[in-house]
Amino acid sequence: MQNKSSIAKSIEKHNFKIKKYYGQNFLTDHFITSKIAEISFANKDTTVLEIGPGTGALTEELLKVSKRVIAYEIDKEVVPILKENTKEYDNLEVIVEDILKADLSKINNLDENIICIANLPYYITSPIIDLFLKKMTNVKKAIFMMQKEVGDRISANINTKDYNSFSILVQYFARCKKILNVPRTCFTPEPNVDSVVIELEKYKRDFKPKNEEFFIKVVESSFKERRKMLVNNLSNAFKLSKDTLRNILNELEINEDARGETLSIDDYIRLSDKLEELK
Ligand code: SAM
Repeated sequence: MQNKSSIAKSIEKHNFKIKKYYGQNFLTDHFITSKIAEISFANKDTTVLEIGPGTGALTEELLKVSKRVIAYEIDKEVVPILKENTKEYDNLEVIVEDILKADLSKINNLDENIICIANLPYYITSPIIDLFLKKMTNVKKAIFMMQKEVGDRISANINTKDYNSFSILVQYFARCKKILNVPRTCFTPEPNVDSVVIELEKYKRDFKPKNEEFFIKVVESSFKERRKMLVNNLSNAFKLSKDTLRNILNELEINEDARGETLSIDDYIRLSDKLEELK
């Protein structure tokens, strides 16, 4: 079990320098680390893929409940501290590698139940979520701690100020649930922002756009300038007249004065299919 003073001691003992550029804010609150392990529902049949184990505060709790933890850590200098703090467990495999450059076939080829869990390095939150959604084909569930504002956006409901293209593109692939608020005081060093733990669970979507890439472009273009009406954003992005776009919206029974945040994922799928017919 780690806390501020034990982490300070091991940092001093190993002459370790905390690297801000790797997003190193280590968890010091046992309630939070054990809660994450609990809500993951990992058990002795589960392999956990942890991104960024750092000094191992969360790793230790995951080792207790799961079959094994495969942990990718970019910073080789933190690994001796991680190993020391987890020495009583024999179910940890550490891979010193940048997760964004890792060969995921090792994970994707495992024929077992895998959960991805991380206190994310904030500077690469979006690329890691993208990696989980699109490239970790064998991992159905993720529990990610992230900056509160990012978590609010990912889990936002339609017609709210936080609902944007990121909310839609994540929720297109996964159900998002806010689990736990984590104040900045639970880390060392303390970051300038509060955090939140989000659960992402991939689901099988029956209603899909004909062209997923084009759908993504339609969603992103619709929020290009948030205060603008959908018609204006789409007219700029796809070089279509506003009248043509108004006709399409009317046909789809979407208000022609609508803004991006008033459309559901299904609305965007129907809109993208319609716009594609005009290409
Ligand atoms: N899991 C630890 C905890 O909760 O105390 C540390 C979390 S800290 C916010 C993020 C960790 O991710 C750091 O240990 C950092 O070195 C590591 N990291 C940063 N970028 C990474 C990358 N591209 N691939 C793998 N690990 C990375």
